Amino acid sequence: MKILENLRLSNFSTIKIGGVAKKVYFPENLEDVVYLIKLSQDTNKKLIPVGIGSNLIFKDGFLDYIFVSTKYLKDLNLKQSGEYFYINAQAGVSFKTLINIVKKYNLEGFENLSGIPASIGGAVAMNAGAFGSEIFDIVEEVYWINNKAELIVSKKENIRYSYRYSQFQEEGFVYKVVLRLKKSNKDISKIIRNHLIERNKKQPLNLPTTGSTYKNPEGSFAGYLLEKSGFKGKRIGDIGFSEKHANFLVNYGDAKFKDLKKLLELAEEKVKKEFNINLKREVRIIE
Ligand SMILES: Cc1cc2nc3c(=O)[nH]c(=O)nc-3n(C[C@H](O)[C@H](O)[C@H](O)COP(=O)(O)OP(=O)(O)OC[C@H]3O[C@@H](n4cnc5c(N)ncnc54)[C@H](O)[C@@H]3O)c2cc1C
Repeated sequence: MKILENLRLSNFSTIKIGGVAKKVYFPENLEDVVYLIKLSQDTNKKLIPVGIGSNLIFKDGFLDYIFVSTKYLKDLNLKQSGEYFYINAQAGVSFKTLINIVKKYNLEGFENLSGIPASIGGAVAMNAGAFGSEIFDIVEEVYWINNKAELIVSKKENIRYSYRYSQFQEEGFVYKVVLRLKKSNKDISKIIRNHLIERNKKQPLNLPTTGSTYKNPEGSFAGYLLEKSGFKGKRIGDIGFSEKHANFLVNYGDAKFKDLKKLLELAEEKVKKEFNINLKREVRIIE
């Protein structure tokens, strides 16, 4: 397995912030992942799975964790059974690849998730979602490795998940996901195109970002609360809440982690004061 030392973590996060990782591991198969989980147990070092890094923010400085990139876990196969298509995708398969399959066979169930810059492993960990859909709508089963380094196959109904949450945020490495999609009568490519246009209109896709910073509290929108609290366009140094979408943090050039932390703390305090709501972070911060 490839192991690289002293890597810049900003290259593993779409917001392009972060210091240096002592080591990053790039497993190529199940054995490699099992080895890394045992290594984590034996050395008492935390294992951090890393997908596309579109929801991950790393601190500046030196980080000595077991960073595990899913870059080389990209096996994929597709099986048809009646009107259903089953996609078996290893953790590192990107949404871009999956969307191409969905368009090719005109499959229904995934279209609302197009444009999310995710790996399937990261998406399952986060229960990524958009336009009223979430990845667990189409998950059939998940092959994952627990902290005892055992491979577990869990059917969706035996997995704990909710809005932007799954049990894999607490334990385990998602190794492979089985998705179930259906042949559609709708023009799936057109729906996908429209979603991409919508995203482009509303999101600051021209700057490094990690998407939604906070989860939407029940009955409200984090973007609305931030805007009403004066945080739309608010900057500290090179980090700021976007002018285009108040819930998106953007890096204007050389953003520093300490400024980002300060900005989040200020925003959380202000929203609490104005609305008596505790914003919950959607982004995963590693420090
Ligand atoms: C422009 C933009 C738009 C976005 N739009 C949306 C949106 O509409 N909806 C939405 O839900 N999100 C959105 N996001 C956030 C992000 O894309 C999703 O959370 C996505 O699921 C993260 O996938 P990833 O592969 O990048 O995971 P990463 O960011 O690499 O990781 C996210 C978390 O999952 C864990 N993880 C990653 N891989 C695994 C694995 N194999 N096993 C266990 N844990 C793992 C990581 O340790 C981390 O805690 C957006 C982000 C950006 C930058």
